[in-house]
Amino acid sequence: MQTPHYGALPAVHRFMDDVAVAAFEEPLGRTAVRTCVQEALAEARSAMAQRACPPPNYASLRGHVLGLLSQREASGLIGVINGSGVLLHTNFGRAPLAKAAVDAVRDLGGAYNNLEYDLKRGERGERYDRVASQLRELSGAPGALVVNNCAAAILLVLDTFARGREVVVSRGQLIEIGGSFRLPDVLSRSGATVVEVGTTNRTYADDYRTARTDRTAIFMRTHASNFRMSGFTAQVGPGELAAVAAESAVIAFEDLGSGALIDLSRFGLPHEPTVAESIAAGLDLVAFSGDKLLGGPQCGILCGRADLVERMKRNPLLRALRVDKMTLAALAATLACYCKPDRLLEIPLFAMLAEPESSLRRRAQLLCAQLRAGGSAAEFEVRPTTSITGGGALPCVEIPSVALCVGPQGSGPAGLARKLRTTRPPVIGRIEETRLVLDMRTIFPEQDGVLCDLLAGAV
Ligand SMILES: *Cc1c(COP(=O)(O)O)cnc(C)c1O
Repeated sequence: MQTPHYGALPAVHRFMDDVAVAAFEEPLGRTAVRTCVQEALAEARSAMAQRACPPPNYASLRGHVLGLLSQREASGLIGVINGSGVLLHTNFGRAPLAKAAVDAVRDLGGAYNNLEYDLKRGERGERYDRVASQLRELSGAPGALVVNNCAAAILLVLDTFARGREVVVSRGQLIEIGGSFRLPDVLSRSGATVVEVGTTNRTYADDYRTARTDRTAIFMRTHASNFRMSGFTAQVGPGELAAVAAESAVIAFEDLGSGALIDLSRFGLPHEPTVAESIAAGLDLVAFSGDKLLGGPQCGILCGRADLVERMKRNPLLRALRVDKMTLAALAATLACYCKPDRLLEIPLFAMLAEPESSLRRRAQLLCAQLRAGGSAAEFEVRPTTSITGGGALPCVEIPSVALCVGPQGSGPAGLARKLRTTRPPVIGRIEETRLVLDMRTIFPEQDGVLCDLLAGAV
């Protein structure tokens, strides 16, 4: 057999000098780009050896190199256009941050700051102080603390107050919220013993009262998050739980989950219990997430009695659960948006919820017109749809919305969806029968132009 003519393959530097290839040096670095080129050339050499075929031409090798480069780029953390209609999607990073929060992360993260320094006294200070005072004002609770996420907040409460002791929970609230978070497992990992009371559908204050023993530390309530019970049901409300806990001299603790700081009915949503309501009802401690209905960075927030917060601060476990300067910077800037009513819509979650259907429809119609004018082969259509909040909050609430639908075409909706996942940025939609549906509510208006170009290129 003749030795393949490897010398006919283009040289590495020809690719490296190609502007389309060189464009990947910015995100990936020169070494990674060179590695992809060498990989493509090695594959070509082995194909030539095995099949005794002539060397591929430059254009086809270049296409292969660019494919490898975009694959590598996509394996990093990159922004996506979320057309799923799920406002708080854990797969897409939950709540997008307000611009003020992003600016705070950039300014404070890129320089030294007084994270743990008391400027007045010129000595070591408290990491949690500033954000705690904002949280106290917004919740009405005398104490507040921030950790990595709501799961960590629950763990810290249980580890501090219930290790080797009992936590009483209603059978109807021993939930799994997905992503391997099962409340009974978290409870037992913390070294607490779970005491289930009531039945699946009904639990009364008396069930808690009767379950109280010398070993009981906490009466706990959980937000049922992703599921709803209806019909012949009864659960003990926050006020009632606080009262039985006080009478039984145990801690009343609530895992609120998505933790709304304001009444969401202003956005046409049904009432979701707020943190301030739980505190006002007399609960001793409340835990909730920072990146769900609060609209901030991933973190877990604890609000409640000052003496209990102090005890949690002295727990060595807090060192492993503590948040960094960037989280605190983003959270403080997000909470500042709550302090003035006209700043609330700076939080992207609320801006998305507040956008009227008429505005969504106008944007979708404009996109549709532009794409049709571009002479694309696919059918574009504007249709009503519904968005959901996601993040375990308000599971049964459908928010009226408007979608841009891409109708039946060559590769079908799955093929189009696959193609749109490879664009930069990737576009994620929902498949409904023969259409790819892009919900305008979760697409930022400033992304419309890019979306139009990406769709025109993909269909
Ligand atoms: C989302 C949720 C959690 C977990 O919150 P993370 O911040 O993701 O850890 C816990 N409990 C409830 C009820 C939730 O909805």
